[in-house]
Amino acid sequence: MYFDTHVHLNSEQLYENHQAFIENAHNNQVEYMVVVGYDLASSKLAVELANQNPNIYCAIGFGPNDCLNTTQQDINELEQYMSDPNVVAVGEIGLDYYWDEVGKEKQQEIFQLQIDLAKKYDKPIVIHCRDAFEDTYQMLERNGHRGILHCYSGSVEMAKRFISLGYMISLAGPVTFKNAKVPKDVAEQIDLNSLLIETDCPYLTPHPFRGKLNEPANVVYIAQEIAKLKNMEIENVARMTTFNAKKIFGIK
Ligand SMILES: [Zn+2]
Repeated sequence: MYFDTHVHLNSEQLYENHQAFIENAHNNQVEYMVVVGYDLASSKLAVELANQNPNIYCAIGFGPNDCLNTTQQDINELEQYMSDPNVVAVGEIGLDYYWDEVGKEKQQEIFQLQIDLAKKYDKPIVIHCRDAFEDTYQMLERNGHRGILHCYSGSVEMAKRFISLGYMISLAGPVTFKNAKVPKDVAEQIDLNSLLIETDCPYLTPHPFRGKLNEPANVVYIAQEIAKLKNMEIENVARMTTFNAKKIFGIK
């Protein structure tokens, strides 16, 4: 049984056929998933999808590339959904210095407001971090708390630092890419106790389906690659990452 910790069934590309994707996931033993928001509309849709489907949960938040005009009032509106039992995290939130549409200070301000929100409701955070590892680390160290580095693209050493703060590392499609050395190193060297798996669909389709639309059923290929790199049975990877995901999201 698999747990895809990061899907965007709320995205334009997947929403229309979301029932078919959920069915295909179940046919491939992908029983659980978390639908992740990145702005107000996608967060509301994530809550809706979680409330309509068993074993589907959601995270709500404003992503670093979608927070240019986000205000405290928007965060207050988001807060109205925080008590919903299917909202298991605040996310995706974080820092992304690869794109420069939103300034660093604005990203940090909105990230901090949402860490505060997560703390208030005692929910973990789902972090999007790209080309901003040191600043992200500093903010998490200052704040304490717990959560997930989603679609982790940093080094092994950085991963260990996040883990020492109480965070988990989630691996996505890039771990399956032939020339992706760093994610493979992370899969190999980081203990399974701290690893999660995700598709981040519709993006980052794993090998051998690159170029096609990604969907939750493909999370099996992420588990398969981790099992190969760790030289263990895929069933162990499936069981442990599902256990880890339930633990961090507080799912019984
Ligand atoms: Zn995402």
